[in-house]
Amino acid sequence: MQDHRLSIPDTPCLVLSNARVPAELVVTPPPGARKDAEGALLLDLLLDRGLIAGLFPAGTAPDAGARVDLLGRHLWPAFIDMHTHLDCGHAIPRVRPDGTIHGGFSLTAEDWPRWTDADLDLRMEFGIRCAYAHGVAALRSHVDSETLAYSKHHWRALDRMRAKWAGKVDLQGVTICAMEAWVGEDARALADLAADMGGILGGVTDTLDRGENGTYDALAHALDRLFALAKERDLDVDLHVDQTEDLSAFTIPEIAKARLRSGFQGRVVLGHCVNLSLMSPEVIDETLALAKEADLAFVSMPTPMMYLMDRKPGRTPRWRGVTAANEIRAAGLPLAIGGDNCRDAWFAYGDHDMLDTLKQAIRVFQADEPLTGSLAMASRVPADLIGRPDLGRIGVGLPAHLVIFQSRSLNTVLARDQADRIVLKHGRQVTDPLPQHHELEAALGLADTLA
Ligand SMILES: [Zn+2]
Repeated sequence: MQDHRLSIPDTPCLVLSNARVPAELVVTPPPGARKDAEGALLLDLLLDRGLIAGLFPAGTAPDAGARVDLLGRHLWPAFIDMHTHLDCGHAIPRVRPDGTIHGGFSLTAEDWPRWTDADLDLRMEFGIRCAYAHGVAALRSHVDSETLAYSKHHWRALDRMRAKWAGKVDLQGVTICAMEAWVGEDARALADLAADMGGILGGVTDTLDRGENGTYDALAHALDRLFALAKERDLDVDLHVDQTEDLSAFTIPEIAKARLRSGFQGRVVLGHCVNLSLMSPEVIDETLALAKEADLAFVSMPTPMMYLMDRKPGRTPRWRGVTAANEIRAAGLPLAIGGDNCRDAWFAYGDHDMLDTLKQAIRVFQADEPLTGSLAMASRVPADLIGRPDLGRIGVGLPAHLVIFQSRSLNTVLARDQADRIVLKHGRQVTDPLPQHHELEAALGLADTLA
């Protein structure tokens, strides 16, 4: 009987034979590779000094000294989580979320004074360690920037983490603030700060209401300023958009129009957009046509949105709380998924596991039948959106950041939690365990909170 555990030798040159790789995650399949009934290619991978040096039909790779027979196990590229809030995360139990958007704002603001350097480092690193152990290669994190002073403090923390985790998990920051900030006196300094930190610009578009005449004049002005500042610094834009069930608060068309009049050439990503799914089919079609014209991309965070949206005391939610995911994809627009908040004032749970996020997305969106294209939402699509076309896919010459599952079918990858997955970074097995919550609580001085 075959031992079901795998041992990956720690060697610079290695063949992983008989892998099953979803075809949508392979850049250029080798001629002659067979595809299984679930759309996975049967491949051998040659790894050499941290890179994927060759792809071959299963059983045909040349000898490289070391060989591991995967016996048909699924092998995927490492995940990308392009929407996180590392600075807010892992504040439970000192922060006790109430499941509402209002609570998310107010409880986070109450927590800000506790965000010392040491506190930020502990909580952010905990999140990164979880992601690394789960097989996440890159994270984009929204940096709380409500004031310039807070922003500097939080960006410096992200910068420390970026330096410390270089070569393991790539970190990218994006400013998150009310859109009013982009017309305020610190707007230019905020944009310069993000640029200096290798980050990009963002904001929460629902903070500016319509004027008395029913139009979004103030938001349009703020968006114009944001795009001008981004254009001057050649930075991409990633916004928090319409995280509400209020149908009158609908800012996607304003963003699209602002983008079109700006001449801004960078990538523009819209996060959340949940009330789009409550609009009429005609409004959805019109909005997505405009979004396409404006070259917008979308990212959805299904897990925390199920938690936050349509929550009313004593009543079961009637709405799944996610955007019009399948319509966005059918319109030919990029749709990624992200993990979003994790054990903080906005979302009580989470473990930075993008496989879990993908499984939730597939179920909540009903993004199966067919599954084709859905897997890329957690790897290839977000890698493109964060400007990392070298990640999130399997291809010759790309880094060997890989995840190997015990499962030998796509169905069972998605059925089970895959806690025993093997993560390879630069072709070497990651042996770091998941960090323990009780150790973080002790380090934060919260050890007795549950006593
Ligand atoms: Zn967010």
